[in-house]
Amino acid sequence: MQSYHDSAGAIQREFFLAQKDADMHAAMDERRAQLEAQGATRFHRTKIGRNDTCPCGSGKKYKQCHGR
Ligand SMILES: [Zn+2]
Repeated sequence: MQSYHDSAGAIQREFFLAQKDADMHAAMDERRAQLEAQGATRFHRTKIGRNDTCPCGSGKKYKQCHGR
């Protein structure tokens, strides 16, 4: 019974570590999405004329870059 207990504990521990890893990746994805959303919000909130320089820093006009 001792060996059964040990392997069950090992599986549980492995599951816990895998879960932690999945949580970490989910948190990283969430953080990345959050940053992208913030950038996108900033992009949209700023009123950009179609003939103004694109705020991405490409030096192109907005209509020829991200304003398409
Ligand atoms: Zn651009």
